[in-house]
Amino acid sequence: MDEPAQAPPLIAFRGVGKSFHADGKTVEAVRGVELDIRRGAFIALVGPSGCGKSTLLNMTAGLFQPTTGSVAYDGAPVSGVNLRTGYMTQSDHLLPWRTVAANIGVPLEIQGRPRAEIESKVGALIELVGLSGFERSYPSQLSGGMRKRTALARLLAYDPETLLLDEPFAALDAQLRLNMQVELLRLSRRLSKTVLFVTHDLDEAAALCDRCVVFSARPGTIRAVVDSPLPRERDLLRLRHDPRYVQLAAALWDMITP
Ligand code: ADP
Ligand code: MG
Repeated sequence: MDEPAQAPPLIAFRGVGKSFHADGKTVEAVRGVELDIRRGAFIALVGPSGCGKSTLLNMTAGLFQPTTGSVAYDGAPVSGVNLRTGYMTQSDHLLPWRTVAANIGVPLEIQGRPRAEIESKVGALIELVGLSGFERSYPSQLSGGMRKRTALARLLAYDPETLLLDEPFAALDAQLRLNMQVELLRLSRRLSKTVLFVTHDLDEAAALCDRCVVFSARPGTIRAVVDSPLPRERDLLRLRHDPRYVQLAAALWDMITP
């Protein structure tokens, strides 16, 4: 369950700015980001390409430090890799010499789990993400969508408290994307995950989020924070006819249309 509003935020961005220096040029990616994220919330981050969405995930994961301001996780500034987050980047980083099953099992092997437990967990995850029959395939033999699903299963094997998902379903066809959205929502609720979900698909953001943060073009600043009128328990298969969903999606589209 979502925590009451007065609980301290799990993630707090305070005056966060980030600039990159490359080839003698400075690129200001994000500026003045103030944002509280409550434990258990499903937050969508949307905005034009290059507005710093991935940069915000990188700072939450502790891979980059902000240039100005601070990112705090559970009350402490993020410094160094934030092990309480699991990050699915836009590229999947699968190990090419390992099969699908062996890739998904990596976090469990690192944790030193017994072989039988690894096998049963990996089997369940393979079924969950719809990769049955491809356990022994290598990444080079998979489609882009299948690689994404392998990466998602590996992330779930690692079982982090917070999921940082960077356009995780962008490469999937419509039917599979819907299945994965349903599963992600169900799992994030059941396991009480906090989710930061980057997407450039406003309909997807409207379908999944409790709250949507809309960014301006670079340097990314927060243009609006919109709370979803939908209940947390929602039927994604019937959502397109729900006037609350239609209204939210339309509001998001209006915000990014010049
Ligand atoms: P988004 O995910 O919203 O498309 P990014 O966060 O990837 O945007 O990038 C925001 C801006 O910062 C872009 O102009 C990008 O080129 C720049 N940028 C991101 N990461 C780096 C980096 N490691 N080095 C230099 N520039 C970067
Ligand atoms: Mg990005």
